[in-house]
Amino acid sequence: MVDLGEHVFPLKKYRLIYEKLLAMGARKENFLEPKPATEEDLLLAHSSKYLKKLEKGNLSNSEILSMELPYTPEFLEFASLYVGGTVLASEEALEEGLAVHIGGGFHHAFPDHGEGFCVLNDVAVAAEKMKSEGKIDRVMMVDCDVHQGNGNAFFFAKRDYAFTFSIHQMDIYPADKPPSTLDIGLWFGDGDEKYLSALRSHFPRLYTEFKPDLIFFLAGADPYEKDQLGGLKVTMEGLNERDRIIIEEARKLRIPLVVLFAGGYAHNVYDTVEIHLSTIKIAKKIQKKYP
Ligand SMILES: [Zn+2]
Repeated sequence: MVDLGEHVFPLKKYRLIYEKLLAMGARKENFLEPKPATEEDLLLAHSSKYLKKLEKGNLSNSEILSMELPYTPEFLEFASLYVGGTVLASEEALEEGLAVHIGGGFHHAFPDHGEGFCVLNDVAVAAEKMKSEGKIDRVMMVDCDVHQGNGNAFFFAKRDYAFTFSIHQMDIYPADKPPSTLDIGLWFGDGDEKYLSALRSHFPRLYTEFKPDLIFFLAGADPYEKDQLGGLKVTMEGLNERDRIIIEEARKLRIPLVVLFAGGYAHNVYDTVEIHLSTIKIAKKIQKKYP
């Protein structure tokens, strides 16, 4: 495990979620353990020059600064593991209809550099891999993290097989927002009503129009009202309803969906954990209804 000290990124949320799920009755054998993504897979979305820099640890100071993470030699290993997790979750979703990755959604990583806590882009690698293996024709990213999905928007811009949707807050990072296929920009304090009515006006319509074979849902916990980095002021109930809309409308249409956690920086880490756990509970309930 990478130790980030007092960093705002709450790495411990992953362990807390895992432990809570076990306490709620999940069995250890219900969890699939990913293998780190191979170099061949990482090259589907990243330049070899960048991967070499990560491996050798010779990133420049400005490259490390834009990642907003203290560099450690375990970076590549940790990042490859979460990419492997998203690849595994994609394969699982294509078989079972729905899969949750306790992690993933690192949408600010670009082919040749990392940004905003994101080293490697798991969604870009997984989507390219599923496409190149002929497992999917079309893919959709539904990015509900409070920060615009700049890395995904950039990566998929010239790839017709992909549709990127991002609903985010305009007046925060990233300053430069390369256009997604569809961007919904909200503002500080917009709250549940604007957030949910924007989603309702686009879903399930976008699903039925684009007809993806696989959806990556970036269920960021950071639109939450008590988040340190976001200011959209969406309540926990609002986030639950968001998850229901995005997951249920997909499953009604029998479109496979991968849930990724993406960001979440609540003042109280247990709020972030609760939001992610709710997403899992909602997904589970919907999976029962639409197996
Ligand atoms: Zn975020």
